[in-house]
Parts: sequence; structure tokens; C-alpha cells
Amino acid sequence: MYSGLIGKVQKARQYSHERERVDISDFAASFQGEHGNHQVIFHQSAWRCSCDFFSGHLTCSHTMAMERMLQGMLPEQDPAEAVR
Ligand SMILES: [Zn+2]
Repeated sequence: MYSGLIGKVQKARQYSHERERVDISDFAASFQGEHGNHQVIFHQSAWRCSCDFFSGHLTCSHTMAMERMLQGMLPEQDPAEAVR
């Protein structure tokens, strides 16, 4: 039993460096910004954030930061979608 678990831990360590194995479909987080907490959501390949800037620009420092953190694990974006 223990040897089986050790194998799983070793595989987990290997997987944790292989971001291409993961495709995030839905994601929600509380983001601690400099001026308060914001709710960041990724759903159906689109970001949302509760901050004021996002409502006017459909992007913000919080969603851009999350994109960087999750690089390689988000679905490929349709170029036409990215322009909107
Ligand atoms: Zn934001």
C-alpha cells in the first residue's frame, strides 16, 4: 500500500511541472488587490472580475495576472474572441 502511494506522490511531482496536461474549464477565486478583494471568474472561456475597471474594459490587472499564473492551462482562445 505504501509503495503504491509513494508512486502516486512521485507521479504527482512530475505532473505538477506538466501544465499542458491540464485544461481549466471553470475557475473562481478571490483576488486580494491593493484596494480590496475582487471575485475573479473564468467560465465558458471568458473572464469576469468584480472590480470597477473590468466593467468598463472587459479586462483588468486581476484577470491578466490570473492568465499569467494559469499560462498553459487555459483553453486556446479564438482570435476573433480575443479582439472583443
Ligand atoms: Zn479586476
